[in-house]
Parts: sequence; C-alpha cells; structure tokens
Amino acid sequence: SGKFFVGGNWKCNGTKDSLSKLVSDLNSAALESDVDIVVAPPFVYIDQVKNSLSDRIEIAAQNCWTGKGGAFTGEISVEQIKDLDCNWVVLGHSERRHIIGEDDQFIGKKAAYALNQNIGVIACIGELLEEREAGKTFDVCFQQLKAFADAVPSWDKIVIAYEPVWAIGTGKVATPEQAQEVHAAVRDWLSKNVSADVASKTRIIYGGSVNGGNCAELAKQEDIDGFLVGGASLKGPEFATIINSVS
Ligand code: 13P
Repeated sequence: SGKFFVGGNWKCNGTKDSLSKLVSDLNSAALESDVDIVVAPPFVYIDQVKNSLSDRIEIAAQNCWTGKGGAFTGEISVEQIKDLDCNWVVLGHSERRHIIGEDDQFIGKKAAYALNQNIGVIACIGELLEEREAGKTFDVCFQQLKAFADAVPSWDKIVIAYEPVWAIGTGKVATPEQAQEVHAAVRDWLSKNVSADVASKTRIIYGGSVNGGNCAELAKQEDIDGFLVGGASLKGPEFATIINSVS
C-alpha cells in the first residue's frame, strides 16, 4: 500500500571520493518514476551529497538528537538536519539499538521530536535470531512498534522498516514468506492499535541483505512496500535494480 519506497542506508561508509562516484552513478541511472527514493549518507557528507545528487532522490540523516540542539557534544539536531534540506531521519536502527544501546523510550522521543519538526521518520524494528528461535518475533516487533506509536503525534510521515537483525549484513535474507508474515502482522497491529486508515496507508518496507538478485521476489509480496538497503545501496547500478523492482 502506498507508493513503493526504497531507502539506501550508507551507514558509516564512504569517503568524499567514493561517494562522489556513487552519486554520479545514481544520477546517470534510469530509475522508475513511481518510487520514493531516499539515501542516508553519514552526517559529514550530507551537504556534499545534497549538492550533487539529482533532486529525484531525497536525503535522510541516519540519526538525530531527541530535541533542540545545544550543549550535547557529538549530537546532531533535527534543526541542523533540516538546515541541510534533508527531510528524513532513520530511527531505531538495530545497530543503534544493539551496538550503541538505544532503547525504545529514547528512540520514541527522537521520533516525536522529528515528526513535530516536520521531517519524515524511517522507523526500524526487528528481532534478533534468538528471539525468532524462541518464537518471540511478533512480541519484539510489536513492542518496538508500540514504543513508536505511543510517542508519535501522527503517522503521515512514518515509514516502518522491518529489519530482522539476523538478516542485516549477513547475506541471509528473510524468505519472501518470512518477510510477508511479519509485514502482514505489523499491518494488522496498526489496524487494531492505531487505525485501519493508518494500517492501509503506511509503507512497511523490508531490510536485511536485500540485493539485486533477491529484490524482485520480495517486492511481489502483498505487504512489502519497498526496501531499506545497506550494503547493496553502496553500488549505484545494483541499487537502481532494487529501486526498479517496484511491482
Ligand atoms: P544490509 O542490506 O547490508 O543487510 O543492511 C540492511 C540495513 O541495515 C539497512 O538499514
């Protein structure tokens, strides 16, 4: 439901030179028109990318502070992100949850602040392998989803990214059936806990080892409305293939 949405999360990768090459590859790629495309460069390269990348592609930050800027060493505020004409922020990514230690409440605060400042949120959720093996996939995803739902003022600018942690950067993509099962459950949760309207309009995108070879089968699933791509988004032609898998 909604327009197909493909995000490229560049994570902590790239140099001025390598990203300049990636931008020129993206600028020359033939991209389907009916897709929202967003890339998330590291903060320090946002300005460079914004100034060289085609306007066809929007820019996201990979994180933000919970409120207005000030004496918060090392943080980046939503106001600063907006100052660079960047309209999106990725929040709740598993690397921030599990490596940096961000919790649901902290992530919820960031999401609320970003949405109140009118930038879109790519809200990430997903279970660890041991949670899946213990049959807790839905519990974990719903708890993370509830933390977003409890915090946010509205749903018009939220895209949900389901990224099973065991599939991120491992080459072990979820099967189309595994992904579809969770996406359908997330939509059902939204319908019961937020509204039927939000459930039908909110894009639920899949992330975790998506590549040029597996994207088409995933894109065919009823409740998969796009992708959040890590490694493969650093290769212009392959990212274009993923964007063009819209079905
Ligand atoms: P990979 O595509 O490298 O598995 O990363 C997925 C991801 O974490 C996107 O946010």
